[in-house]
Amino acid sequence: MSAPKTGARTLLVTQKLSTIGELSCNPSIGGVGKGHIVREVDALGGVIGLGGDYAACHYRVLNRRKGGAVRGWRVQADRGRYRDFIQNYVANFNDENDVMRMRSGKGAGAGDGDGWRGRLDVLEGSVEDIVVDSSTGSTPSITAVKISVTDPTTQSTETHTIPTSSCVITTGTFLRGVIHLGKSRYSGGRHLDDSEEVEPPSVGLADTIKKLGFKIGRLKTGTPPRLIKSTIDYERLAPQPSEDPFYFHHITEYLKSHRKGLGDINVDAQRPPLISCHLTRTNPETHKIVRENFHQLPDYDVPGGVGPRYCPSLPKKVEKFGDREGHNSFLEPEGFDSDLVYPNGLSGPFPEEVQLAILRTMEGLGAVEIKRPGYDVEYDFVDPSNGALDRTLEAREVCEGLFLAGQIVGTTGYEEAAGLGVVAGANAGLVGRARSDGRDRTEATSFVLDRKESYIGVMISDLTGGFERVTEPYRMFTSRSEYRLHLRPDNADVRLSMPGSPAAKAGLVTHTHGGDVHNGGDVHNDNVHNDNVHNVGDVAIAKSGDVARRVHLCKEFKLPLTDWESIFREANGKANLILDPKALKKLEGMGKNVPGKTAFEILKMPGTTLEDVENAMARTFEERGEKNEFLRSTEFNYVAIESEIKYSSYMEKQIREARRMEMGGEVFAVGSIPIPESVRWDRETFNGFSGEELEKFEKVRPRTMGEARRIEGVTAASMERLLSVVRARTDTENKERRRRWKEEEKEKERRARGIAI
Ligand SMILES: Cc1cc2nc3c(=O)[nH]c(=O)nc-3n(C[C@H](O)[C@H](O)[C@H](O)COP(=O)(O)OP(=O)(O)OC[C@H]3O[C@@H](n4cnc5c(N)ncnc54)[C@H](O)[C@@H]3O)c2cc1C
Repeated sequence: MSAPKTGARTLLVTQKLSTIGELSCNPSIGGVGKGHIVREVDALGGVIGLGGDYAACHYRVLNRRKGGAVRGWRVQADRGRYRDFIQNYVANFNDENDVMRMRSGKGAGAGDGDGWRGRLDVLEGSVEDIVVDSSTGSTPSITAVKISVTDPTTQSTETHTIPTSSCVITTGTFLRGVIHLGKSRYSGGRHLDDSEEVEPPSVGLADTIKKLGFKIGRLKTGTPPRLIKSTIDYERLAPQPSEDPFYFHHITEYLKSHRKGLGDINVDAQRPPLISCHLTRTNPETHKIVRENFHQLPDYDVPGGVGPRYCPSLPKKVEKFGDREGHNSFLEPEGFDSDLVYPNGLSGPFPEEVQLAILRTMEGLGAVEIKRPGYDVEYDFVDPSNGALDRTLEAREVCEGLFLAGQIVGTTGYEEAAGLGVVAGANAGLVGRARSDGRDRTEATSFVLDRKESYIGVMISDLTGGFERVTEPYRMFTSRSEYRLHLRPDNADVRLSMPGSPAAKAGLVTHTHGGDVHNGGDVHNDNVHNDNVHNVGDVAIAKSGDVARRVHLCKEFKLPLTDWESIFREANGKANLILDPKALKKLEGMGKNVPGKTAFEILKMPGTTLEDVENAMARTFEERGEKNEFLRSTEFNYVAIESEIKYSSYMEKQIREARRMEMGGEVFAVGSIPIPESVRWDRETFNGFSGEELEKFEKVRPRTMGEARRIEGVTAASMERLLSVVRARTDTENKERRRRWKEEEKEKERRARGIAI
């Protein structure tokens, strides 16, 4: 949906209109790293966050006890509600402006409302082929797409050729898709809404893509069985109730936090009571049946099948972690009123009777019945590495105007697909618009996100900059970023939606006041209290100004250390939060000479929270008879302010280290540093490396730091560790070389003297 926002006339083609917004697998959105992407997509005007908020039936923040940067926002969504919401959004895209759409509960985007009208068309049909012009220059360019459309009444099919200068292909798991269930296999991209019906695979398009010269691979993914809720014995299972709601959509979060009128956007008021999930567990009996039936697993096109490493199937878990007594599985309902439940993490495409036998060994599932067995789908994907796609996601070297996004480029998950979709859609729109305006495509603006500013940028750089071809589905984790303290869910809007940002330049976000942010960081500016927050861009301006003001206030506010300690003790009941009894006694003896500390410095100390500091400040202001309206942070900006202060030194260090590695651009400045051949890729040398990293390093045996960086799945922290090992090893080897050289020189001298004698 980002293409029409750039001003391009856009046609959305899909095989079945009724599947727009279909969540193919488990209806959950977010998680660690993935939740970050959802917030970023929302900050770029995308719709996954809004849909998630609207459809959420169960909330959870993973890593809640850790810092704001690594918390994973995850919702369990009601499958039907999510689909309805997205379909409504698409259907109303041209009719109503941003705010109207939001207020009427039909979804919102960030944009200029009226300007989008009439730019989006939607067509039910199958893209069979793309038409390419190879006559003009060295690189072919796209000129049209061929779409077959079936008349629903007569069932006759016609092929239409629609001219275009740019096209985004997002066929997910459909390219030459094959569904596996035990030893039986049949063509299909996925099963429809947990039913027997299968959506047809995309074969014509797969042939064209292959002919264009892309490197094609084959991956697989799987989904667990759907269970009939009434056959589960919940009495025997521990419930996992929902946590309090949060909001992926920045505008809802802002309005809620400032207690402004929400109208129909008040998702909390619209939805039924939140649901609970329940915990069960596999056991030795389960694993025994799994082992006994390994031979019934599918014969994949790639032996063993290549699936998502971080979402392994049950047979993979049993095979890999054979020593474990069991694996947890949350039973997650498909929605508020749904009679279907799926056991999370228990995919495994055994024949249906084996799946049933496996499930019935587990607590609470002794009499369970399956509505639809779990299955795997194996599909073609296009390897985006080695420059096959550039950072706009255009396959420029292969076919100008052709963009690819989503699972087709080897990612896994709705969130990754949404992040790539925004970028590819915007760039295809910018190219299309330039062409239709009669401009050369080189004059089109590009919408590029950097590693420093977003996880989407990290993902695109990881996928397209790869040296070693993608060998398994890519999943986002916070450890993939070298700037993770800065790339937090709480500041996605400030990072991506400010005036002058790439998103603003591309037309994805707008600002009510035309982006006037001269006072954004001014302590006296009161724009956070104005009512003109209509776009995510306005929220970003309000937040950045507000956070800057409050951080400034914390830097200005100073008290003697002993006063901080006594206020903490009296007001918050927290004794010795910043001073141990011995230090306190010593300072108390210093009278007026006790050193002072600012609120900023106090908050950087371990154990203190923003709330502690604000309580102390409020008390002091009250005693002095002063008022300060910026004193109390709101839910909306609490994490942002606390993180900006608490982690300020770490953030500076992280930025310094990342700059040293210079991975911000695509250039890896230390890339040419050779890795000594003597380096052993084992646990002894690289203690903190993951099994995946060691496995890949051992396989690739990179010769330079640059080659190491471009291996998929290698985290920024591991690169730092590798650099220090390389430096230490190189130092030792250089010393050894120097020592040997000196000895040889001495030897030569001795010999020369001997000869002279
Ligand atoms: C069985 C299964 C299990 C999965 N398991 C997981 C999992 O465990 N973890 C995880 O993170 N993700 C999983 N996913 C992946 C997740 O669903 C996808 O990553 C995400 O939906 C990808 O989005 P997409 O936009 O790339 O493609 P999709 O959501 O698959 O959408 C592709 C769309 O393209 C349409 N289409 C295809 N070919 C054509 C054509 N020729 N012409 C017109 N339209 C066409 C299709 O009709 C479909 O609407 C699973 C998917 C499936 C199918």
